[in-house]
Amino acid sequence: MGSPWPSSPPTGAQTAAFADAVVKPYWLDVLPPREPRPRLEGPSEADLCIVGGGFTGLWAALHAKADDPARDVLLLEAETVGFGASGRNGGFSLGSLTHGIENGLARFADEMPQLERLGHENFEGFVADIERLGIDCGLELTGDLAVALEPHEVAWLGEGAELLERYGHDYELFDRDAVRAEVASPTYLGGLWDKTDAAVVDPGRLAIGLADAALASGVRLHERSPATKLEDDGVGVRVLTPGGHVRARRVLLATSAYPPLLRAIRRYVAPVYDYALMTEPLSPERRRSIGWKRRQGIGDCANQFHYYRLTEDDRILWGGYDAVYRYGGPVRPDLDDDLETFAKLAQHFFTTFPQLDGVGFTHRWGGAIDTCSRFSVFFGTAHGGKVAYAVGYTGLGVVATRFGARVGLDLLDGRETEATRLRYVRSKPVPFPPEPLRSGVIQLTRNRLDAADRNAGRRGLWLRSLDRLGLGFDS
Ligand SMILES: Cc1cc2nc3c(=O)[nH]c(=O)nc-3n(C[C@H](O)[C@H](O)[C@H](O)COP(=O)(O)OP(=O)(O)OC[C@H]3O[C@@H](n4cnc5c(N)ncnc54)[C@H](O)[C@@H]3O)c2cc1C
Repeated sequence: MGSPWPSSPPTGAQTAAFADAVVKPYWLDVLPPREPRPRLEGPSEADLCIVGGGFTGLWAALHAKADDPARDVLLLEAETVGFGASGRNGGFSLGSLTHGIENGLARFADEMPQLERLGHENFEGFVADIERLGIDCGLELTGDLAVALEPHEVAWLGEGAELLERYGHDYELFDRDAVRAEVASPTYLGGLWDKTDAAVVDPGRLAIGLADAALASGVRLHERSPATKLEDDGVGVRVLTPGGHVRARRVLLATSAYPPLLRAIRRYVAPVYDYALMTEPLSPERRRSIGWKRRQGIGDCANQFHYYRLTEDDRILWGGYDAVYRYGGPVRPDLDDDLETFAKLAQHFFTTFPQLDGVGFTHRWGGAIDTCSRFSVFFGTAHGGKVAYAVGYTGLGVVATRFGARVGLDLLDGRETEATRLRYVRSKPVPFPPEPLRSGVIQLTRNRLDAADRNAGRRGLWLRSLDRLGLGFDS
């Protein structure tokens, strides 16, 4: 028995289901209208300038103010807050700092007990901050359900359960009938429900909520103000924008997959596009037909995986599978649309839930993921420690950005903490080669991952060699 995905092309009906969808992240489209904050005009000064108004930059701004309310914090966002990955993601909110326990063990085995504990504390802080700040972002502590679609994946779930047990997670392992009773899909052969440190949120509302809280704490926010250059003047760093500049004692770069202001980041980060569809709200009858009463975030176990979840008004967000890297790693608005990928996503959606035949998609969009070869955030400093960065979350940053922001600030302020002493914080991923080799290596790796999925998960020579070198590709 192989993968459930049809080898035939998507049908006309499947393609028609997303034909009228608006090309815009659903979460940003349904936000109440708001006036962007003014652009940066003319010269300005700040103790701390943060570049990037996604979750990393917003958490950093909030924490910098909480550390020292007198600190003058200025945040520059090229577009509007949440415009990047933070407003485009699935809203899966997981505590792991290492993109899962298995990946953590492969790379930071000696530090895993600490990394799991720090991840747990960060998750608790994430929930507590949202409650304390009164951010209405649809946080639901639903847990995370991994589903097996092929027999070898059922074995993986068993191994996954052992790891969850070892690290003290609360979980339930489902056989075929039990997982189908949980969520009604004829493709499921097993499931593993991890109930520890796993939730879903509305990421658009979270980003706006964090921005409002930052403004309330005195952070100065300039939107539509892209930083174009850093200039070191010995004492501080000038951050230039088209309309002005900020002279700052310290600068935190939180620019994720976007073209970086430091060349060093480019070696380690490959912008990889991930795509998602959002359905219309399900009718009560359709909603009943899929079960899913406990509303978990769901992901399948293949290398090329789908992730899906319910919204507060019972739509289904359905994303993943294709992770698209393009030559040179461009990040541009026109890449938000990719008809071939959406057709495949729609086909897989209706294969997973045939009872939802006829449902339409209202939104389709893509977003760039800051993929690095170790699949977790990494850090660095430049300009004699006056500039720091936290990037590389590789598709799992909704919660980890809060930790990344904290560590970025500690590095800038020269504060030694339990986290800053870790190899996890001090080391860098293995760099990707420059183009044209970069595209070649990534396409080959994607091709081999696809082959492994079609071959009972067995990893061939190329993937095993990468595993040995600590190199990988994920989204
Ligand atoms: C489609 C998709 C689905 C995902 N699903 C999940 C998920 O379900 N769960 C999960 O944990 N993670 C998920 N992720 C990853 C997660 O969204 C990111 O890890 C996280 O949002 C990263 O936050 P960030 O602030 O570091 O980056 P971003 O949110 O990308 O923010 C960077 C910001 O910097 C701005 N910027 C860039 N350059 C400049 C400049 N020069 N000057 C000023 N501003 C600049 C950009 O406009 C952008 O707003 C997903 C990502 C994508 C794309």
